[in-house]
Amino acid sequence: MPELPEVEVLARHLRPLLCGKIVRGVNVRRAKVLAPTSPRKIRRTLLGAKFTGLSRRGKYLLFQLDGKNTGKPVTLLGHLGMTGRMFLAGKHERLPAHAAVVFDLGGENFIYEDTRYFGRLTLDVSAVEKLGPEPLSKDFQPATFAQALKRSRQAVKVKLLDQTLVAGIGNIYASEALFRARLSPKLVANRLKSGQIKRLWRAMREVLREAIRCGSTVPLNFGGGKSDGFFYFGQAPGAPDFYEDRLRVYGREGQPCPNCRRPIKRLTQGARSTFYCPHCQRAG
Ligand SMILES: [Zn+2]
Repeated sequence: MPELPEVEVLARHLRPLLCGKIVRGVNVRRAKVLAPTSPRKIRRTLLGAKFTGLSRRGKYLLFQLDGKNTGKPVTLLGHLGMTGRMFLAGKHERLPAHAAVVFDLGGENFIYEDTRYFGRLTLDVSAVEKLGPEPLSKDFQPATFAQALKRSRQAVKVKLLDQTLVAGIGNIYASEALFRARLSPKLVANRLKSGQIKRLWRAMREVLREAIRCGSTVPLNFGGGKSDGFFYFGQAPGAPDFYEDRLRVYGREGQPCPNCRRPIKRLTQGARSTFYCPHCQRAG
């Protein structure tokens, strides 16, 4: 599932491709992903609108457009869910079977594809209002992070997935940050000492920055293995396994810890897998 770095990389990639393009057609093939916006409303709002910007907040994409009739700015909110992909493709190319929404941009289509339809593309932006601070912004400071952790009795790994604590961290980067901070995922959030919190704060920012710099931890497939300028999110058959190089503990159960060579363990917390090294990540 895409987390902050993957969404950031996607936003940076799509921004120059979309900006200045005009929506000439809106083809809604799965109305569910628009909810609570209706297909009629999205068509009426976006037809003739021009893409003017694209930013990211947490795991959400925020597309900015100028409405045709109103001239007023409109925000379209996107979320990739578990399996979503957003990309541009030539008009002549066949639409994927699970294309949920297709914007006709003239020479090409902007496609939101989702095999499981857990993602979103909607005019309802309320989800963003509930998010905690951006972990790479100045708003995210060790002192405020510590205050928020003090209010929770959850295990720190589970708490890190709470998007109101900090936005954009998911299962992969929670495990990676705790490993880098040498903290057990089982530690109770409100019992963390200030030194531990500072270590975790720094580790989170490092793992996220590194992943963005690497162009995402999840393989970025540019279609047929070529850099054709059309972005696809998700793993293609035969794509190189980037996890091997970049993730230190996530998905590596039974493999040697990069620090101490003892096997990485997996444990289930809040119905999600946590990967960690019990030797390097002590409870105390
Ligand atoms: Zn270790």
